[in-house]
Amino acid sequence: MHEMAVTEDILRIVKDYAERGGAARVTDIYLVIGELSSFVDDSIQFYFDLLTPNTIAAGATLHFERVKTRFRCRKCGQEFEPDGQDWRCPSCHALGGDVIAGKEFYVESIEIMS
Ligand SMILES: [Zn+2]
Repeated sequence: MHEMAVTEDILRIVKDYAERGGAARVTDIYLVIGELSSFVDDSIQFYFDLLTPNTIAAGATLHFERVKTRFRCRKCGQEFEPDGQDWRCPSCHALGGDVIAGKEFYVESIEIMS
């Protein structure tokens, strides 16, 4: 159940931003989640609803933006999006490479009412 810990982290960040911005209430929270991170939107929403009553973020809408996986080939430097489970470079057919996108997990922005 690592979504619970992760949702608590999100809330900590959001409260911190909101307090610094002098917010009365947080209305929207924009999250960026990479395809390779295993977080499930529904679980985060579930814990969010559980943890936020009587907080500054109560009733805020969560927005999820999924980032596609991208690799950079170690052999030829080509950047590519893997096709399903086929992680071979489309140029030189070397397998895999360095992950340059897809592991993201962060709060992109929040909207507040003061
Ligand atoms: Zn390559």
